[in-house]
Amino acid sequence: MRLGNKVALITGGSSGIGRETCLLFANEGAKVVVADVNDEAGNETVDSIHSGGGMATYIHADVSNSDDCKSMIDHAEKTFGSLNILFNNAGIMHSADDNAEVTDGDVWDLTMNINAKGVFLGCKYGIPALRRAGGGSIINTASFVALLGAATPQIAYTASKGAVLAMTRELAVVHARENIRVNALCPGPLKTELLMKFLDTEEKKQRRLVHIPMGRFGEAHEMAKAVLYLASEESSFVTGTEFVVDGGITAAYVTPEK
Ligand code: NAD
Repeated sequence: MRLGNKVALITGGSSGIGRETCLLFANEGAKVVVADVNDEAGNETVDSIHSGGGMATYIHADVSNSDDCKSMIDHAEKTFGSLNILFNNAGIMHSADDNAEVTDGDVWDLTMNINAKGVFLGCKYGIPALRRAGGGSIINTASFVALLGAATPQIAYTASKGAVLAMTRELAVVHARENIRVNALCPGPLKTELLMKFLDTEEKKQRRLVHIPMGRFGEAHEMAKAVLYLASEESSFVTGTEFVVDGGITAAYVTPEK
C-alpha cells in the first residue's frame, strides 16, 4: 500500500481526475475526504470507495469560499485525525471564456475565484494541518495551457492556471524545510466532462488531436497515477515541479502523421 495510514483531501472529487484519484488513493490505503459542490456525485464517489472496503467521507465545499475551505480541512482532521495529502484539483472552464476583447469580467472573476483562489484557500487552511501532521504533500492541478499559447482562446482559464503554477513554486520554496512538498500537475487534454462538453463533434476533436503526438486524449485515471506518485513517499525529493502528463503535447513542434 503506497498510502497506508495517510489521510488525503481531494477537491473536485465528484468527477473526472478528482474521482479517479479518490478511488486510486483509497485502493492504496488512504482515508479519503471527497470535497465538491456536486453532492450527489460526491456521495457516489464515497459509496464506491466503501463498497471496495475503503474509508471515505464527503463534504460539500465550494473552493472559492473561505469558510467552506476552512470547514473541509477541519472535517478531515475531525473525521480521520490528521491531514497528510491535499489535492487542490477542483476547476472550471467557462463556456463564455474567450479572448480578452469579448470575455466578460464576471467570467474572469468566477474562473479566477475557483481555479486560482480555490488553490490559495486550500493551502491557507491546509498548510497548518499538514504542519500539525509533521509534513505532507500538496498537489495543485494546473494545465498544459499554462505552458503553451493556444489559438483557441480561454483567457481567464489560461491566466488562472498560470497563477496555479506561480503559486506552487512559491509555496514549495517557502515550506520546503517544514517537510511540506508542493507540486503542480499539468494535464494535457483529457477525455473528461470538462473538455468533452466543448469538443462535441468529431471535427472539433480531430482539430485538437492533431497537436497531441500520441494521437489520443488522456484519461482521468492516467492523471490519478501521476498524482499518486506526487502524493507518495516515492517523490520524497520532488517539490516545486510542473509535472507534465500530456501525451507529448508540450514537447512537440510538429506531430507525426497518422
Ligand atoms: P470535471 O469537470 O470532470 O471535474 C471537476 C470537478 O470540480 C467537478 O466534480 C465539479 O463539481 C468540481 N467543482 C467545480 N467547481 C467547484 C467549486 N467551486 N468547488 C468545489 N468543486 C468544484 O473536470 P476534470 O477534467 O476532472 O478537471 C479537474 C481539474 O483538471 C481542473 O482543475 C481542470 O482545470 C484541470 N484540467 C483538466 C483538463 C482536461 O482536459 N479535462 C486538462 C488540464 C487541466
